[in-house]
Amino acid sequence: MRSRSIILAPGARWRAMNVPGEDAYRNKGVAYCPHCDGPLFKGKRVAVIGGGNSGVEAAIDLAGLASEVTLLEFADVLRADSVLQDKLFSLPNVRVIMNAQTTEVEGDGSRVTALAYRDRPTGTPHKIELEGIFVQIGLVPNTEWLGDSVVLSDRGEIVVDTHNATSVPGIFAAGDATTTPFKQIIVATGEGAKAGLSAFDYLIRLPSAAPLAAAAE
Ligand SMILES: Cc1cc2nc3c(=O)[nH]c(=O)nc-3n(C[C@H](O)[C@H](O)[C@H](O)COP(=O)(O)OP(=O)(O)OC[C@H]3O[C@@H](n4cnc5c(N)ncnc54)[C@H](O)[C@@H]3O)c2cc1C
Repeated sequence: MRSRSIILAPGARWRAMNVPGEDAYRNKGVAYCPHCDGPLFKGKRVAVIGGGNSGVEAAIDLAGLASEVTLLEFADVLRADSVLQDKLFSLPNVRVIMNAQTTEVEGDGSRVTALAYRDRPTGTPHKIELEGIFVQIGLVPNTEWLGDSVVLSDRGEIVVDTHNATSVPGIFAAGDATTTPFKQIIVATGEGAKAGLSAFDYLIRLPSAAPLAAAAE
C-alpha cells in the first residue's frame, strides 16, 4: 500500500506476570491501570507488583483509596526515583516487600482472594489475602513491526513532537505507542485529533504532483 501520509496508532500492551491465575482473574481483581481501576478498590486491600516509577506511583495513588497497599518488588532495591520512594515510605497504609517473586493469583472462582509469592533468597512461600492486584511491570508499545522505519525511544515508543510528527515527513503517530505521557483514552483521542490535523496540514502543503510517501507494501 502507498500513501501520501500515514498516522500510526498501534497502541501498547501491559507486561503480564505470567503466573497461574492471572488470566483467569484479569478484570476480576487483576488490574493494570491504577488511574482507571483504582476507584473499584476503595477501602479494599491491594498489591502492586513492581517497584519502578510506575509501581511506586501506583502504590502512592492507591494508598489514597485502598485500606492497605502492599508493593512487591522482585529485586532487592526499588528502582523508582528517590523522591517517589520518600513519599511511598511516608504513607502509613503501605508496606514494601523486596525480593518477592509472585507465584500465583488465587481466587474463589469469581474474584481474587489472595496473592502467593516466594521470598527469593530463602525460597519461603507466602500468601497475602487481598482483593486487588495491580501489575506494574511495564507497558510495551506495539511497535516491533516498525523496525527502524521511524525513530523509536529506548522503550520502543514512537518519538513524536508536539504536532505528532515522527522522524519521517508525512508520517504521524498518536496514542499509547508514542512518547506522549499518560496512557489514557482522553489523551490518545486528543493526540489522534492532533495527528489528523497535522496530516491535513502536511498534505495541503504538498505540491499536487508530489510522489507518494514510502509505506510498507
Ligand atoms: C485493561 C485496560 C483498562 C483500561 N481502562 C482505561 C480507562 O478506564 N480509562 C482510560 O482512560 N484508559 C484506560 N485504559 C487505557 C486506554 O485503553 C488506552 O490509553 C487507549 O486505548 C490508547 O489508545 P490507542 O489508540 O493508542 O491504542 P489501542 O486502544 O490499544 O488501539 C490500538 C489498536 O491498534 C491495533 N494494532 C496494533 N498493532 C497493529 C498493526 N501492526 N496493524 C494494525 N493494527 C494494529 C491493536 O490491535 C488495537 O486495536 C485501559 C487499558 C487497559 C489495557
